[in-house]
Amino acid sequence: MSKSIASWFKKNRVNVLVILLAVIVAGGLGWWRYYSSHQPQPLSSSAHEDQPHWRPSQIPFNLNLLNHASKSWAKSLTVAAKSWSNSGSVNFNIIPSGQAEICDVYPESMNFCSWNEADGWLYQMVYIQGPGDPHIISSAIAVNDAYLSNSESEYSAPAWRNYLLCQSFGWTMGMSFDFDAPDGIRAVESCMDVYGDSKTVANLQNPDTEDISEFVKLYDHNDDDSSSAISYKVKTANSLWKQKKFGNLVQNEQGGIMKYEQDLGDGYKMVTAVQQVSAK
Ligand SMILES: [Zn+2]
Repeated sequence: MSKSIASWFKKNRVNVLVILLAVIVAGGLGWWRYYSSHQPQPLSSSAHEDQPHWRPSQIPFNLNLLNHASKSWAKSLTVAAKSWSNSGSVNFNIIPSGQAEICDVYPESMNFCSWNEADGWLYQMVYIQGPGDPHIISSAIAVNDAYLSNSESEYSAPAWRNYLLCQSFGWTMGMSFDFDAPDGIRAVESCMDVYGDSKTVANLQNPDTEDISEFVKLYDHNDDDSSSAISYKVKTANSLWKQKKFGNLVQNEQGGIMKYEQDLGDGYKMVTAVQQVSAK
């Protein structure tokens, strides 16, 4: 029996090979056709997969904004909130506290506070990102009244407060600073520009149209908010942030801005930016 199969195979060897080849080609074609129409889908439709951003479950997304700043910031707070919410991407739910100088980090909120100490810093701001994704779960902005609300300081003009607050709002919602130095061709024109000085600051009260269109793109998707549970890491972050333990210096940019990152464990991280007074 096995002998007759062997001799049949010997006679029909070419035919068998042709059939085998046809089966392989057909299988391969089927596989290719299946996978070209069933490509793996990205987990999120965001075009800015790596850029930090709050988790929008609708457009505009709602962001709780706690106000713990001194009274001198009332106008600037309105201006900054309007600048960014005019994009149609964010809606601020401003929660007045009546108390200044409470600079804690709260879950699922942006806390805005002021402090008053001539310690060399114009502002400090922070956001916390959840494990393995770009989503911001908490943020805080602290501005220094010792310079920005002190009539003896060159930073006391309302234009300075508007500029720095607009910039802080942008950064804690995922926008980058613009570090390109102004030259004959390029002028500074957005609050995200870090080269504001006492002469130009009046022109830097708002984000420019380029920044707004980037912001709109950043929030132009819906994230499933099922995993936005309040993080136990916010408490850890808050204690480090209040002791000014910002972690490793990751960027020391011109314009006096320094960026730090602190690993909070389990994939959570705290990102801080501070602005020096002496740089201006
Ligand atoms: Zn997202």
